Amino acid sequence: MNKPGQAARGIARIIKGTPATDGAGVELTRVIGQPPLPMLDPFLLLDAFRSDKPEDYIAGFPAHPHRGFETVTYLLSGRMRHKDNAGHEGLIEPGGIQWMTAGKGIVHSEMPEQQDGLLEGFQLWINLPASHKMTTPAYQEYDQTQLPVENREGALVRVITGETTRGTRGPVSQPLTDPLYLDVSLEAGVEFSESINANHTAFLYVIEGEALLADSSDEQLELRRDQLAVLGQGDAMKLNAGDRGARFLLLAGKPLHEPVARGGPFVMNTADEVRQAFSDYQRGEF
Ligand code: FE
Repeated sequence: MNKPGQAARGIARIIKGTPATDGAGVELTRVIGQPPLPMLDPFLLLDAFRSDKPEDYIAGFPAHPHRGFETVTYLLSGRMRHKDNAGHEGLIEPGGIQWMTAGKGIVHSEMPEQQDGLLEGFQLWINLPASHKMTTPAYQEYDQTQLPVENREGALVRVITGETTRGTRGPVSQPLTDPLYLDVSLEAGVEFSESINANHTAFLYVIEGEALLADSSDEQLELRRDQLAVLGQGDAMKLNAGDRGARFLLLAGKPLHEPVARGGPFVMNTADEVRQAFSDYQRGEF
């Protein structure tokens, strides 16, 4: 519930993802990290994948490096096994999250562990500040049973990180960008509201159904499946589910306001640092 005096954030922009291929030929939709929305500080990339055709995903993401940021994988359906060159290995299952701090560098693979059926999920990249780009790699992994679910009237809120207005706290911790990551399911017509730190970047991405939300001039807009809404200024958000209900991801995080130099799987502050990352990787120093 919004507290009295809170200013609801309206929609600043609506973005539709663009089809892309990554890894060894995985078909996905790139939502953040494409020309209309290159980044949304501190969020560098959002990929959505959803297919029941094995040829769209089976080749997976064989061994590749990362440096300078975090990758966050959230699966709704299917299974994905990850392994890295430091001996870490795990399986992400439906409803599970893997929050990987690549830091100074890892080489890992992310491979679907199924021959058929639906694979659906998201990969988000979140930047690290210059002071922590070369931090020691780390993982935070939680399965569905370990993520708290807040029950509201006509609403289920799965909390991955951050704290809801009603005090439910997700298990993932990242004080550098202080993110909020909620997966919200609403019954038809239900109103949903949340406080959001006024200094943080915020967006929502609709997975199912429709969400009705005002823009900055208070006109109600309908957000549909696979649309991302960048939220404007304010310290809260409020929306209503459409006639078929709605499911969406709600994310917010502290912008870093630092220069960003990208080179494929490396995201640093300067082009020199990206060149250094390529050369360290080629010399086997990850
Ligand atoms: Fe990766």
